[in-house]
Amino acid sequence: MLPPSTIGVLGGGQLGRMLALEARRSGYKVVIFTDEASGCPAGQVADEEINARYDDAEALERFLGLVDVVTAEFENIPDACLQAVEAVKPLRPGRKAIYTTQHREREKLFLRDQGIACAEFRIIEDLAGLEAAVAALGRPCVIKTAAFGYDGKGQAKVVQGTDLAEAWKAFEGHHAVVEQWVPFVCEVSVVGARGVDGSMAVHGCVENIHEHHILDVTISPARVPAAIVDQALALWKAVAEGLEYVGTMAVEMFVTAEGRVLVNEVAPRPHNSGHYTIDACRTSQFGQQMRATCGLPLGDASQHTPAVMVNLLGDVWPAEFTHPDWSPVLNHPRAKLHLYGKQAAKWRRKMGHFTVLGETVEQALEDARKLKAALPVRPA
Ligand code: AMP
Repeated sequence: MLPPSTIGVLGGGQLGRMLALEARRSGYKVVIFTDEASGCPAGQVADEEINARYDDAEALERFLGLVDVVTAEFENIPDACLQAVEAVKPLRPGRKAIYTTQHREREKLFLRDQGIACAEFRIIEDLAGLEAAVAALGRPCVIKTAAFGYDGKGQAKVVQGTDLAEAWKAFEGHHAVVEQWVPFVCEVSVVGARGVDGSMAVHGCVENIHEHHILDVTISPARVPAAIVDQALALWKAVAEGLEYVGTMAVEMFVTAEGRVLVNEVAPRPHNSGHYTIDACRTSQFGQQMRATCGLPLGDASQHTPAVMVNLLGDVWPAEFTHPDWSPVLNHPRAKLHLYGKQAAKWRRKMGHFTVLGETVEQALEDARKLKAALPVRPA
């Protein structure tokens, strides 16, 4: 599918925005379908934006009439919508990949089925199930909602003193996954792409530091031994092949003190930990998404410069509608500022990021820390 074909995108957030910027640069047209209000981050830079619920059949039909191929920038899309899209236009990644990974229970069962290393878990639906799971897995462990959880939302840690009946109240009436606690030494992720022809290209293994369950900093390449990188890349490939994946995909992982790598989560789309690829890789995660979606050969995913990415949450805005002073970031010759065009800087909301390039990863990290310190967090 060559330019000026039209790429349809399900979802209107920053990931869709960065894909649209990339695709339009190459002459593709982009239509966004989102349940967000008009003027969303992706809609601002697209050729057209359709604002409707994902179960609005008429709006979906209009969208499908405008586009040649469809991709998604988030996974929480109702299955009926995925099926309706796939019946009419190529959907990349396909329904199987999105349906499996949008739901923690299905994702975990997929990983177990494929023999892909992950934390031990149990699927539960009531208090008795929770009690049995905690008895089997031990404390600490973590309860996670099966559906629609992200960035640590819908999670509860079970420690020595936790009252299980009390903890279960937040999950009552839903399926949940209970996971053994992994005392990880660091968290890593791999972002890469798989093409229509089954070819694969990964950007490499990066190191992620979370704060309050939200990604804070990505360091690339990860400061881990080669044996860890090899395991991480092998896990990414196993997931991509198991899902018959087409497009850009991220796998988040834990690294244990014994040198094992375990899959935590799969994202069927570009990922926050892959934003550094825009400035530090020969082809970015969005360039690869565009290529895979349109059935083009994948680009060279390799990294040309060490990089550190820092997320900009609404917390560093002095007030909801007052921007920080960006001059420290903009004055740095190897820092790149990316803002997502969101209006209100809500607490913990992802508003943008910056990437710092360095001669070495240590130097990029040192500079990134200085720039971050120049952006004070507003009092809660
Ligand atoms: P998730 O929403 O599952 O990606 O979890 C968000 C973050 O919580 C992870 O990046 C980890 O820092 C932490 N976490 C989640 N599950 C576990 C686990 N089983 N063991 C230790 N830490 C975890």
